[in-house]
Amino acid sequence: MNQQPNLAERLPDQSSRHFTPLLQPDLAGLYRRRAARLRALAEGHDHADYLRWAARVTEAQASLLPAAVECRPLAAGAIPHAEHCLALLDRLLARLAHDVPAPVAPHLAAVRGLAAEERLAATHALADGRFDAVAAAIAPLLWSALSLQCATAARAMPAPGGSNAEAPACPVCGTAPVASLILAGEHHGMRYLHCPLCESAWHMVRAKCSNCGSAADLDYLSFDTAEATVRAESCGVCRGYLKVVSLERDPHAEAVADDLATLALDDAVAAEGFQRTGFNPFALPV
Ligand SMILES: [Zn+2]
Ligand SMILES: [Zn+2]
Repeated sequence: MNQQPNLAERLPDQSSRHFTPLLQPDLAGLYRRRAARLRALAEGHDHADYLRWAARVTEAQASLLPAAVECRPLAAGAIPHAEHCLALLDRLLARLAHDVPAPVAPHLAAVRGLAAEERLAATHALADGRFDAVAAAIAPLLWSALSLQCATAARAMPAPGGSNAEAPACPVCGTAPVASLILAGEHHGMRYLHCPLCESAWHMVRAKCSNCGSAADLDYLSFDTAEATVRAESCGVCRGYLKVVSLERDPHAEAVADDLATLALDDAVAAEGFQRTGFNPFALPV
């Protein structure tokens, strides 16, 4: 079954079908695809337990979608409604309370042990991009609740006006991308950058650096063949890189899942002196 992703769109101008600046995938479908992909990639993977844990967190996010609908409009980098975000975190922790893998149990307990004001301060730090202020082991759980709320809020607010396409950061919430996606189906062959916070995707032409815009010195690195589903697009001008995940090559690929399952590629590219220009919500920067 080669089912294409269901990318429900909200467009300022529905007539501009050949060029869609912003995609906002249906969240239930996105979480379902991501969780299934994480479980599939876990088979035989060195970090299978963590990929399966990430799938469980994603499934918990999906189950809380009805609870996340009451959200305020989203401002760049801000928590739209902090109280609601903490309530979602409580419910997320409750959903994940059973059959916790031993390596994760202390981190789950650590989040549970945070006082409300500590949770709020840590969530604010993540929303502001101050990742070093939050322990890396607990950050993904806090991020998952924050992201669920921001993604829901982003779909309840008007799409941003003006020409925000081609920007290095998300035009909706200002966050750096997790990866580039080369789409199949209706947007066949087009490149979109995927936001790890509000789960929006914005268009950027291919064959230019997603960070600095230069096309002068790009290289594509992978462990497999040149036809690999996941490649790292590195730029000799800004020395940045971001992975490119191709749905043309594998229709089941998904930005967060495929990026998380290929962190070994990051190590190889970083060893070449390139710095990642985005981040994965399940492997936040330290
Ligand atoms: Zn965003
Ligand atoms: Zn560059």
